[in-house]
Amino acid sequence: MTHVLLLAGTGEARAVARALRESGGFDVIASFAGATSAPADMAVRTRSGGFGGADGLTRFVQAERIDLLIDATHPFAAQMKANAAAQAIPVCHIIRPAWRPVAGDHWINCASLQDAVRQLPAQARAFLALGQRHLSAFEGHPAELWVRSVEASNTGTAMNWIIGSPGSAEDEAALFTEHDFTHLVCRNSGGNAGYGKIEAARQLGLPVLMVQRPAQPVGTIVETAEAALRWCKSMSEQDGG
Ligand code: NAP
Repeated sequence: MTHVLLLAGTGEARAVARALRESGGFDVIASFAGATSAPADMAVRTRSGGFGGADGLTRFVQAERIDLLIDATHPFAAQMKANAAAQAIPVCHIIRPAWRPVAGDHWINCASLQDAVRQLPAQARAFLALGQRHLSAFEGHPAELWVRSVEASNTGTAMNWIIGSPGSAEDEAALFTEHDFTHLVCRNSGGNAGYGKIEAARQLGLPVLMVQRPAQPVGTIVETAEAALRWCKSMSEQDGG
């Protein structure tokens, strides 16, 4: 039995958990940061909360006799990726490809959220497609700011709230038109789930302030859950597992 620690929080993590379980021969613990009270059913054992830095992760890895570590965290989870990369056991990072601009896109690349704050014009009517904990960077910005959440929220910020979830390009274009947005602000997360807003901005000719990804960790990097499963199997075979 090969013991795998899966750093979760993404669709890729759910896919890896399912695939490892179906494959057999792997004992998997999926780990969540703890931001969500009820993480998606992973079909494997789960734990929640930070480990206590890279050293805390090392202690967990040793205590649970982990053989392989799969980092399936979000592309912007830089600290967790660095902590994973610092471990002495084999580590595989799943990092989905970044979105790339195509004809018709009008992207303004931003090195960081703070850079996006600086580059957003004061007279903009902007849709901030960002997680709630990233909104504080925009506090005090003179632009009219709109954010979306699946449930009513009160962060104490002077933002305008839309209740809803990311949708198709058509849905997003209708929303952008309804609210007369002039700018979209988002992070280059990659993947299909959030791409509707990018297509909508293209259709409407809106500028997108695109926050670039943090530096990638050093080590084994794959792009998909399938590739991570292949890595697990090959590492397990090498180990005689
Ligand atoms: P981060 O800045 O890299 O992580 C901050 C700290 O949170 C880490 O140092 C670690 O604490 C703890 N942590 C993060 N991920 C963890 C995990 N999977 N299990 C246990 N502890 C974890 O990351 P973040 O940007 O705050 O993201 C937090 C989590 O949310 C990640 O797991 C990420 O995958 C998920 N997320 C998902 C999406 C999405 O769209 N699906 C978007 C954003 C974030 P210690 O140093 O104490 O161990």
